[in-house]
Amino acid sequence: MVNGLESLRGGQGAFVAECVNVLGEAHVLTDASDLAAHGKDWTGRYSALPLAVVRPGTTEEVAAIVRLCADAGIAVVPQGGRTGLCGGGVPIEGQPSIILSLQRMNRIRAVDADARTMTVEAGVVLEAAQQRALDEGLVFPLTFGAQGSCMIGGALSTNAGGSNVVRYGTARELCIGIEAVLPDGSVINALTGLRKDNTGYDLRDILIGAEGTLGVITAAVFKLSPQPLVRATAFLSVSSVKATVEVLNRLQDRTGGGVEVFEYMPRPAVEVICRIFPDIRPPLDEPAETGLFLEVASSRKDDAVLEDDGSVRLQTQVLELLQELMEEGVVLDAMIAQSDQQRAELWRMRESILEAITEAGPSYHMDISLPLANVSRFVDTMDVAAAELGFQPLTVGHLGDGNLHYALTAADGRDWDSLPLDRVRQMAFDLLLELNGSFSAEHGIGQSKLDVMRALKEDAQISAMQAIKRALDPQNIMNPGKLVPMD
Ligand SMILES: Cc1cc2nc3c(=O)[nH]c(=O)nc-3n(C[C@H](O)[C@H](O)[C@H](O)COP(=O)(O)OP(=O)(O)OC[C@H]3O[C@@H](n4cnc5c(N)ncnc54)[C@H](O)[C@@H]3O)c2cc1C
Repeated sequence: MVNGLESLRGGQGAFVAECVNVLGEAHVLTDASDLAAHGKDWTGRYSALPLAVVRPGTTEEVAAIVRLCADAGIAVVPQGGRTGLCGGGVPIEGQPSIILSLQRMNRIRAVDADARTMTVEAGVVLEAAQQRALDEGLVFPLTFGAQGSCMIGGALSTNAGGSNVVRYGTARELCIGIEAVLPDGSVINALTGLRKDNTGYDLRDILIGAEGTLGVITAAVFKLSPQPLVRATAFLSVSSVKATVEVLNRLQDRTGGGVEVFEYMPRPAVEVICRIFPDIRPPLDEPAETGLFLEVASSRKDDAVLEDDGSVRLQTQVLELLQELMEEGVVLDAMIAQSDQQRAELWRMRESILEAITEAGPSYHMDISLPLANVSRFVDTMDVAAAELGFQPLTVGHLGDGNLHYALTAADGRDWDSLPLDRVRQMAFDLLLELNGSFSAEHGIGQSKLDVMRALKEDAQISAMQAIKRALDPQNIMNPGKLVPMD
């Protein structure tokens, strides 16, 4: 008897026993500690106990488990590294569910160095996929703070973005093939890696970003890119948020579209990071009101050649442009990383922000995107409005693609619980709508933004999503209560 199984009611106990028949005892976890650990999300805000955590090792086993769930009317919650930020990867209270963990499906099935593609199972940790590409002399460019824990299936299901989207696109744009198990247990095998395939609705695109509500992704094919041979990494103080667009476009023009990272890091964000992690030093002596962390890279040999005077072409190009921008008053100050260590320190600062804000006290996070031309209006308006209401905005963002992580905390001396969060949230969402923005840029909807989805997403789009969900998952067993408001 599997530990804990005896506590389940008759039908549910029999269902879990059938899972054991398919996977073996070792891969059906029912211990209270396992259920609690897997049932809690990264933010700690969402938790519910599953009947069991099942860990299939093959696509056939995933399909068998999903068929069992369909027969028994038990919900399936696919789970990767549990780093999602919207409560999507844990069950909802009151709904008998299993967590289907992909952690054993962790094989890199193939790397095709000629076609520059990689076929990866859903449970491969993102960092392991990046490393394998590097071992082949190539790059799998998806990059973000959770890469040491999050898994390929989770990254695809949330259509994760991160720091390199400005150059390489989101998980969706990198994916050129998918294998998945649908809610009836049937398997889609579209792992051809074809770059052109116009043969009907693109089911890959429907599954990516579906947050596990339409099926379980079991494997995918990704495009790989050439490895950069040279980089220039810098932290800038810019004259205004509006002026950052000028910096971005001039850098792109000068380096042939070489901008890989273009991150907004204004003074309050840098200050909170340095306060929570005292070993991190501010990159500039004079705090940058509008701080930018950027990286430009090239895989062209010519750009990496060491000239007689010790300079490297790409770095010289960036330096010359920064000098011009300083003379024009667009850039006020700049620190250019002179070593791998300085580069690593800048990266550490950028990647520490979420932990720093979380440590610093209660906060409310928005993950929004705007047309580049409207970013400054949003930031300038909201920063003033939020401060007037007693909040301290702590914003960072992947500014190169118009994505801001706009977090609100309590200003010094203010009590979080007494602040008008609903009012400031409403102001932010009204302004977003007016400026053609999105209320979820890259983290998804999960449970945490269902109310905003219901309120702000166009009715026709919600109806179309409901129709797709009902058609593919008529029993509503695949990650119910997430992403699409069904009522
Ligand atoms: C410190 C930190 C930094 C982050 N930075 C970024 C960032 O810069 N950019 C960004 O986009 N995101 C970021 N994220 C959030 C990001 O969405 C997740 O880290 C990641 O994409 C989710 O992967 P996971 O394996 O942890 O999935 P989980 O959290 O386990 O699941 C996430 C969702 O995907 C579904 N799912 C998981 N696996 C599958 C599968 N195989 N098939 C179908 N559905 C599945 C789950 O049901 C759930 O709805 C960050 C998170 C953290 C903690």
